Amino acid sequence: MAQVGVKHKSFFISIFILAFLAACQTEVKEKPAVIKPTVDVPQFNADSAYSYIAQQVAFGPRALGTKGHEECAEYLIDKMSAFTDTVIVQRGSVKTYDGKVHAFQNIIGSIKPELNNRILICAHWDTRPIADHDTKRRDEPILGANDGGSGVGVVLELARQLNTMDPKMGVDFILFDAEDYGQPDGYRPYMENSYCLGSQYWSNTPHVERYYARFGILLDMVGAENAKFTMEGTSMQFAPTLMKDIWNTASALGYSGHFVSKRTKSIVDDHLYINQIAGIPTIDIIEYSESTPTNFGHYWHTHKDNMDIIDRTTLKAVGQTVLTYVVQEIH
Ligand SMILES: [Zn+2]
Repeated sequence: MAQVGVKHKSFFISIFILAFLAACQTEVKEKPAVIKPTVDVPQFNADSAYSYIAQQVAFGPRALGTKGHEECAEYLIDKMSAFTDTVIVQRGSVKTYDGKVHAFQNIIGSIKPELNNRILICAHWDTRPIADHDTKRRDEPILGANDGGSGVGVVLELARQLNTMDPKMGVDFILFDAEDYGQPDGYRPYMENSYCLGSQYWSNTPHVERYYARFGILLDMVGAENAKFTMEGTSMQFAPTLMKDIWNTASALGYSGHFVSKRTKSIVDDHLYINQIAGIPTIDIIEYSESTPTNFGHYWHTHKDNMDIIDRTTLKAVGQTVLTYVVQEIH
């Protein structure tokens, strides 16, 4: 009897558990999608981003080994120190395709460095030492207002604004050096991975041990007038969900004119190494041009890359989109 009694008891318990599980399952099925509490997103200040670009360009070309490079590093470290809790400057040396050895500095500002849960926003700050796509003065360094200046300008303004909030997640802003000292087309002997030396170094040797971020956003050439940003192939390969979410955010804000939902070819930029080596899903917001053979802007790696091509409307579209997405993620 006792055994029967136990059987009966466990039978009833089983029924109860099954009913409970069924109820749970039903509840899960009917549960609406998680909706995050509405967060106030501040206005991204494009004038501020513009002025950070102008201040970088005022140092002249910031190619590795130049006076402008040295002076601009100090300026960026000062700014990052004002806008974040801690700044780490990762210094090292790299051998470039031409056999020269150059000192480089990756400048890393962190909000709430003590938190494990983190996100990453980055750009390169060095500029190209030659104007290899120009028709004249091809061996002279470019000013790099857009290619070198614009991504940093937007990153600094994002840091300034996010620093005033109380995020529940840590945010790292990395300004990579030595991105744009890559080998010109046709140069021999060929050197693999000659671009993005600063981000390759960081991806192999992050500024803190066992560093990880939930996702990364790279900004490169984000300030030219009427710029179009497409769904670049490397980003779509490694971080398709993030890319779609950010393009949807842009669309909801009315920026579909800049953020075009079209997949385009893969390019080599800092995000490739962050994805491949550091394993952090990272997208690149970078201009795509239909009308040039390279698919970069007409100014790319020429002396036309100066403040004349920088447009606040484009800076606003990119800055507001990233700020909106990030603010929702970190609250
Ligand atoms: Zn470049």
